[in-house]
Amino acid sequence: MVMDVKTASGLFCTLILLGAVLIPTSVLAQASVLSNAVQVKENMVASVPRPAQEAEVQNKLEALAKKTGRRPNILLLVVDDLGWGDPGCYGGGEAIGAATPNIDFLAQEGLKLTSCYSQPTCTPTRSAITLGRLPVRTGLYRPILAGDKLTQNPWDTETSLPTILSEAGYNTLLVGKWHVGEAVGMRPQDIGFDEYYGYYRAQKEYVQAYDKRRYPDLVLDEEKYAKYLSIEQSQGLEHGFKNGETKLVKAIRSIDDMANADRLLKEFTVKKLSELAKDDQPFFLQHSFMKPHADNHPPKDFEGASASKYPFKDAVVEIDAYVGEFIKVLERTGQLENTLVFFTSDNGPQTDGWPDGGYTPFRGAKGTGWEGGIRIPGVAYWKGMIAPGQVSDGLFDLMDIFNTSLHLAGALDSMPTDVYIDGIDQTAFLLADGGESMRDKIFVWSQTDFLAIRMYEYKEHFKVVTTDRTFLNIDMATTDDLGLSPWVFNLYVDPKEQYPVGHRLNPWVASLAAEAKAHAATFKKYPPKKIGL
Ligand code: CA
Repeated sequence: MVMDVKTASGLFCTLILLGAVLIPTSVLAQASVLSNAVQVKENMVASVPRPAQEAEVQNKLEALAKKTGRRPNILLLVVDDLGWGDPGCYGGGEAIGAATPNIDFLAQEGLKLTSCYSQPTCTPTRSAITLGRLPVRTGLYRPILAGDKLTQNPWDTETSLPTILSEAGYNTLLVGKWHVGEAVGMRPQDIGFDEYYGYYRAQKEYVQAYDKRRYPDLVLDEEKYAKYLSIEQSQGLEHGFKNGETKLVKAIRSIDDMANADRLLKEFTVKKLSELAKDDQPFFLQHSFMKPHADNHPPKDFEGASASKYPFKDAVVEIDAYVGEFIKVLERTGQLENTLVFFTSDNGPQTDGWPDGGYTPFRGAKGTGWEGGIRIPGVAYWKGMIAPGQVSDGLFDLMDIFNTSLHLAGALDSMPTDVYIDGIDQTAFLLADGGESMRDKIFVWSQTDFLAIRMYEYKEHFKVVTTDRTFLNIDMATTDDLGLSPWVFNLYVDPKEQYPVGHRLNPWVASLAAEAKAHAATFKKYPPKKIGL
């Protein structure tokens, strides 16, 4: 299908709609004058060179390696559906009824990122971190569901972060939520992690079978309930090993079981962090909380623990307490100075289930390409390596964790060369005093729709997710094409994206559009994978 697209700068370009990915026929592969980024390799997104801070950080890492005699550990903490505005260090916390002293501590003693970006929903973010690639390229942009007839296992032709880190001598563990496929061959223990201990799905997908107040038409209807159980595969807490056995450790059979899920995960990670301290090999441990994704049910000791007393807020307090326990165990076992801790959320708040949802000061929420959907908390803490009190508005995409982890593991040479890599090595940004980001653009996608580009403080939308109810950002949303002008916002003066200035900012409209075209051109040489979704 061929269609004409008129850009705001008055230029016409012919685009071929292949699937839903726009690919220009006459490619302007070069970046715009606005960008300082340099493309070092054909299969890698351009990054901004910062030689001075890279040298500073290299010296720092070498000095640490001399002291410890080993590579650093990485503890990645991913919460589910926490909003940018929820933690105290981002203006939430006590002010909105759920204090977060431990998350705030990480920010006070480390680096707080104010422009950290995820994908709009759970599955794409998790796959993007694991592969350093946009989900539209890999096909892993939504959960693989019963009834999907895949033409290939998407993981078969990918090289995952835990696979490379394992080869580099790391212990690799995933604890908690996965949500990127639960069939054999697609589970964490099948795609590179040495060990998996967690739940394949989101909280709601388990607890809906037991919450008769919220889902009476399922729980109280025997016939429907029997049908539901007949298609239900994932039962609860699974424990599996690479090339080994996977066992159901504890089935979810009640609301109480779900309420206690994060506690079990926390206990496992605390035990593992103690054991790993005695191991010769460093670790990459991703702890993915179940909470505060709806539906939240507090365990007994966190019921009413927040000032607000609402289940979502109690969940935030519970998460914060467990973050504090992880830091304590790293300290107790002498690993704090050799471990990068990165705390983040997999997408913006899910507002459709309000008030069982988080807070963002920005427009939109989970499921959209507005800032509320994709701008999330991001805190890097590393005692002795990141100076306390750092705050940066430099751009960071959670896919950058892929490249950054490879750098820390000394495994950058194992970067895949046969596929396009969208992540950027941000080691120097995170660790340098007053570090500056190596990334000058964020590309915003929802499944196979290219929605927007952010560059510096400007954001240009090509498609938007529109809603006609403030809170229904998923359940009553549509993705719309735009009119004559793309919608351009200056996020510094209009952080809520309310006043488009597209045809008043002509130079930047054209530059941002040129960057978007160059991005689209990468799909020509590296076509998106078709997996049958
Ligand atoms: Ca999520």
